[in-house]
Amino acid sequence: MEDSRTYNITWLPGDGIGPEVTREALRVMEAVADTHGFSLSVDEHLAGGAAIDATGEPLPETTRTACQESDAVLLGAVGGPKWADTTGDQRPESGLLALRKVLGVYANLRPVRVPESLADASPLRPERVADTDVLFVRELTGGIYFGTPRGRTEAGVANTMVYSEEEIERIAHIAFQRAQLRGGHVTSVDKANVLDVSELWRSVVTDVKEEHYPDVELRHLYVDNAAMQVVRDPRQFDVVLTGNLFGDILSDLAAALPGSLGLLPSASVGGTVGLFEPVHGSAPDIAGTDQANPIAAILSGALLLDEIDETAAADAVRWAVDATLEDGRRTGDLAASADAASTSEFGRAVAERAADHTPQTTTAS
Ligand code: NAD
Repeated sequence: MEDSRTYNITWLPGDGIGPEVTREALRVMEAVADTHGFSLSVDEHLAGGAAIDATGEPLPETTRTACQESDAVLLGAVGGPKWADTTGDQRPESGLLALRKVLGVYANLRPVRVPESLADASPLRPERVADTDVLFVRELTGGIYFGTPRGRTEAGVANTMVYSEEEIERIAHIAFQRAQLRGGHVTSVDKANVLDVSELWRSVVTDVKEEHYPDVELRHLYVDNAAMQVVRDPRQFDVVLTGNLFGDILSDLAAALPGSLGLLPSASVGGTVGLFEPVHGSAPDIAGTDQANPIAAILSGALLLDEIDETAAADAVRWAVDATLEDGRRTGDLAASADAASTSEFGRAVAERAADHTPQTTTAS
């Protein structure tokens, strides 16, 4: 039967371990595409340091156009010591910021999961973190990082936290919609006891819930309490909705829970095309050695599949990652080196598991 669904994916391998881990993500996505009746048309382009070396700029026009014209973008990571002397718009990382802007993505999604099989790797007690499954929904293009006035003023130096009602509404919709697909609970984080902008945040989020999502539970937490709760009892959270600054800090705090940076995926959505990338950087210390953990990239691929509405395939990817971990396979960040699987061995193991998965498969054995 001819395939009716084909998705155009722009692949930006980037620098350091970026090519190694995203290659495995594509391998796994292709395995589930086969079994779920769709195909991926993957178009590779340069970004970051690799693009600087080839073209002199971190986000060449051809890359920009390819990303804008595709269904989704999968990115490895950019940057590294080779480009440490670059400045301003010529830095590899500025290519990534420019890409987020071009795509208009304003919502950053960062799931933090601690499967039972990895709870021992957490800096917290295993019984406290096992089965944690939180989705951080962070506003990405507003708030104090972008508000004006900024810089020198008569009084000193300023940064200004500004949110419009519209900016709060659109990120709230994303959080409530995600909660409907998960545990049905949103925790909105603010500092409404001190900040005027947080008062508006709290009232707009409440209105959006009451008007559109009566089925989702909502609670509000002050950011200082939220930080404490993330460490004290991370399992109490389903979806955590935050502004830009609070989300930056809280999602990094929560990123410590699983015990390796190599486990954390992310998605930036809400604009014309979504951008999917691991939370980690280019890890120059292990680049080129086939040692990196590809799970963050593979799970970024699952978020990509969610976004293009191939949710059964996305679930198959997550299931396959858990099943591979339950099989006892680990990369070097989570195992003694003698027992560690290489990046490509681990990726192949997940792809094999994923290809076996059918929508009826529910256990990892
Ligand atoms: P990093 O995330 O690259 O590495 C931090 C530590 O975590 C290193 O010891 C690394 O080996 C380890 N690590 C990271 N990912 C891993 C994985 N998948 N498997 C196993 N171990 C892993 O952070 P850094 O060293 O501060 O930054 C290196 C470069 O990456 C810098 O140029 C930085 O600007 C860039 N960076 C890029 C992004 C991005 O592209 N989104 C994000 C963060 C950092």
